[in-house]
Amino acid sequence: MSRITEHYQRARKSLAGGVSASTRVNRALGHPMYFSRAAGCQVWDFDGRDYYDLCCSHGATLLGHGDERITRAVHEAIAAGAACSYENETHAELAELLCDSIPAFERVRFTGSGTEATMHTIRLARAFTGRTKLLKIEGHFHGYHDQVMFAIGSPPSPLTAESAPGTWPASSGMPAELVEQLVVVPFNRTDLLAEALAKYGDELAAVICEPVFYNAGCILPSREFIRVMREETRRRGVLLIFDEVQSAFRMGPGGAQAHLGITPDLCTVGKAVGGTYPLSVFGGRADIMARLQPEGDCQHSGTYNGHPVVVAAALAALKAYLEPGFYEHVFAIADRLYTGINDVFDRYELPGRAIGLGARFGIYFGIDDQPQDFRDTLQHSRTLMLQFIRAAIEHGVYLHDYGGGACHHGFCAAMTTADVDQTLDRLAAAVQSM
Ligand code: PLP
Repeated sequence: MSRITEHYQRARKSLAGGVSASTRVNRALGHPMYFSRAAGCQVWDFDGRDYYDLCCSHGATLLGHGDERITRAVHEAIAAGAACSYENETHAELAELLCDSIPAFERVRFTGSGTEATMHTIRLARAFTGRTKLLKIEGHFHGYHDQVMFAIGSPPSPLTAESAPGTWPASSGMPAELVEQLVVVPFNRTDLLAEALAKYGDELAAVICEPVFYNAGCILPSREFIRVMREETRRRGVLLIFDEVQSAFRMGPGGAQAHLGITPDLCTVGKAVGGTYPLSVFGGRADIMARLQPEGDCQHSGTYNGHPVVVAAALAALKAYLEPGFYEHVFAIADRLYTGINDVFDRYELPGRAIGLGARFGIYFGIDDQPQDFRDTLQHSRTLMLQFIRAAIEHGVYLHDYGGGACHHGFCAAMTTADVDQTLDRLAAAVQSM
C-alpha cells in the first residue's frame, strides 16, 4: 500500500470523508494529495518528490509558498501576542490600502472566507434595497452558503443553447424555497440579462457575478454584457456585486473591475488578498456600507474577523503586489506558460487549449472555439482533462480537479522563466505518455 493510500485510510477514520473540505479530494486521483513542504512555486509530497504547483492553494497563493515578507510579518504579529477580536492600527492601514487599490471600495469589512464575504454582501444588499431577489449567472461560483449554491457544478440534465437557465441545487440540504428568490441568467447572453432585469428589476436586491469567470477556467464578459449589466442595474436601483474572491489581484491591483473599466456598487475579494492566510473582504459604496451595525441596522460580525496574524500577512502581500514590476512579471510568466502549454498540445496533437488572464487560467479539451459561457464549458472533454491531470501529476506538475466541468489553474509570482521551462518539459513528457 502506498503512503498516500495508507494515510487516506487513517484520515477517513476520524475526518469525514478523510478531508477537511470536500474539494480537497483531487477528483482526477480519487484521493487528496498530501504535501509536507512548500517553497516558492513548488510543493513536496510525503516521499520528498517535488511538483511545480499549478493549483497554488486554489488561488490563495499568489506571491509564492513561504514568501519571506509574509512569513516575517506573521512572525511579528505572533510575537506581539496575536490577540484577536480587538481592533488595532493595522486594520485601518489594510482598509486604506484596499480602498486605494480596488475602485469599488469606499469602505470595507473583513471576514474569514469568500463564502462569508458573499453571504454578508447579499444580506447588506437586501437590507439597503429592501428587496429580496438575487440575480446570479449560471455556473458562477460564490461560495458554499445556501443563497448561492444553485446552478453550479454539474447540471442534473444536459443544458443546450435552448434550455431555460438552470436552477439546480448543488448540494442536498438546500431549502427549495430559496430558488424562488433567485433569477438565473447564462453568462454573456445580453438579451436574456436585459429581459430578466426588465421583468424582475423592481424585486431584485442585487445582481452578483464573477467579472472574470475563472471558476470555469477563464471566460471574460463581452463588453456589451458587462455594460448592460452596469447600466441597467443602476437605472433600476439594483445593486451590482462583483465577486472578485478569485479575480482580485490576479491581473492588477484593481482587480477585474479595473481591467474591465466597470465599477460595481459592492465587491468581495478573497484568496490572494490574504497572501495564503484566511482573509476575505467585502466593501463598496460608503452609503451602502453605512447600513452595517453599529452605524446602521445590518449585522456583520465574527470573532476572528481581522485576525491580527492574517491582517499582517495581507498587508505584506498587498505591499508586494504594489511593488513596481510585479504585474509585468506576472504577465511575462503568464504569456510564456500559456503559449508553452499550447505549443505542447500542438506538438503532440492533443486537442487542448490553455486560456488565461494574469495569474489564473483554464485548459479546455476537445472544443474548437473559446467558451463564452458555462454551457460551452460543459462540452469540453472531461475524460481527456482527467487523463491530462493524472499524467501531469505523475510527471511532477500539480493540477487539481474539483469535479464538475472545466477546471481553473494558476501559478504564483515566485515562478521564474526557468521554472516555466521546467514545467513545460514535464508537461511535454506527461502529454507524450498519454
Ligand atoms: N467566490 C468565488 C468567485 C470563489 O472562487 C470562491 C472560492 O473558490 C468563493 C467565493 C468562496 O471562497 P472560500 O472558499 O474562501 O469560502
